[in-house]
Amino acid sequence: MNEIISLSVHELIEKLRAREVSSEEATRAYLGRIEETEERVHAYLSVLEEEALAAAQEADKRLAGGDNDASPLLGVPVAVKDLLCMKGTPTTCASKFLENFISPYDATAVRLLKEAGAVILGKANMDEFAMGSSTEHSAYGPSRNPWNLETIPGGSSGGSAATVAARSCAASLGSDTGGSIRQPAACCGVVGMKPTYGRVSRYGLIAFASSLDQIGPFARNVRDCAIMLNAVSGHDPLDSTSTDESVPDFTGDLGAGAKGLRIGIPKEYFIDGMDPDVESAVQNAIKTMEENGAEIHEISLPHSQYALPVYYIIASAEASSNLARYDGVRYGLRANGNSEEYGPLYGMYAASREEGFGEEVKRRIMLGTYALSSGYYDAYYTKAQRVRTLICREFEDVFQNVDVIMSATAPTPAFRFGERMDDPISMYLSDILTIPCNLAGLPGISQPCGVTSLDLPIGLQIIGKPFGETTVLRAAAAFEKATDHHLALSPL
Ligand code: GLN
Repeated sequence: MNEIISLSVHELIEKLRAREVSSEEATRAYLGRIEETEERVHAYLSVLEEEALAAAQEADKRLAGGDNDASPLLGVPVAVKDLLCMKGTPTTCASKFLENFISPYDATAVRLLKEAGAVILGKANMDEFAMGSSTEHSAYGPSRNPWNLETIPGGSSGGSAATVAARSCAASLGSDTGGSIRQPAACCGVVGMKPTYGRVSRYGLIAFASSLDQIGPFARNVRDCAIMLNAVSGHDPLDSTSTDESVPDFTGDLGAGAKGLRIGIPKEYFIDGMDPDVESAVQNAIKTMEENGAEIHEISLPHSQYALPVYYIIASAEASSNLARYDGVRYGLRANGNSEEYGPLYGMYAASREEGFGEEVKRRIMLGTYALSSGYYDAYYTKAQRVRTLICREFEDVFQNVDVIMSATAPTPAFRFGERMDDPISMYLSDILTIPCNLAGLPGISQPCGVTSLDLPIGLQIIGKPFGETTVLRAAAAFEKATDHHLALSPL
């Protein structure tokens, strides 16, 4: 493997600044790697070769001028999920609906990456409109897991995770509404973090469920994850839910260790049907943290059992409203649907939506429309919101006594293609351990904590208090330092 692509983000930054490697060399190395791996992995929906090389050359000029601190990612090649708008480039959200859509502007997270000096290599594959846990719902075909090409990379940010695991970018961005960063990170053996709701601006992120969506990084280790998070965090007047909470340096506490850290282990998170290898890896991780000075507390989060149904009501309700904008009029696909029954206008709306959306997206729109319809609104939507409040309170109570919560990220490792496609509920169960954190808006990370007997990665989830990313990253860094799971490479 080319030496440049084996460097992590912080190692590459050092080499770029020492002028031992140029950004153009690094970018060409990654473009070469993309060519070598894409036929098997399909992590990208578009590769922006020309734009990337131009950005790299610009970065090299700035590096020559010593323009370093203002641009913390200067010259570093990264990828972004294809639901983040990037001016002048295709943004498809893995949907046929947006096949020909070219973003007229940059999402704030993309703008911040560019301002930090990053080189954007391309747009990563995903489940259509971020609905799914395997990328099998991408209208352009699934991505494959670099650890085992017969298995899914997780989803919905499966391409963003697979490209980091395949070493076809140095780090990437994804989005997490119910687990879409952490679950694919677990499947692909990389680090992935969902920040606190409001930490990263959602402006220019194509909306799925606006009260849950958050953008966050994928990386090969915890330090790189913190560096990426530093680059994209902060208040944005263009997103009214972005907070003006101050942004600390997320690398600040990485060396603080596990000593004295109070870690809660929710007994409800060792669910029936959990893979035994996953369970024992998590038990070992708990032991490791204890041996390194952490205090382990058993805790209880009884309302977690309702998180999955609550999520599928709220997320689908918000999706049905957000996706109403795809009517064939303003952007994206327009079908000719003039029919006797509907006439030219309604016929066009209906035909465009029929043709443009995939099965899973239609299922969510129908679920959500039903939950919001008059007569059912109180029974489903209002009730789900009430239970969501209970889930939030339960976390607040628990966080009086612990600093972070630790569990598996997903109950099973990556599954085989097709295994869950005919049974939406079994697909939804992939996110049973990640969803509560989204409902409560909390930060959560997944990091590698071992592999199964079939050599598939296992993810450890650490959840923190609102705006407690620094503590989450500290705990994750302490675990990483005590073990070497993050060094295991996919065989690709
Ligand atoms: N897999 C979950 C879903 O399908 C979560 C998706 C996400 O986080 N974007 O809704």
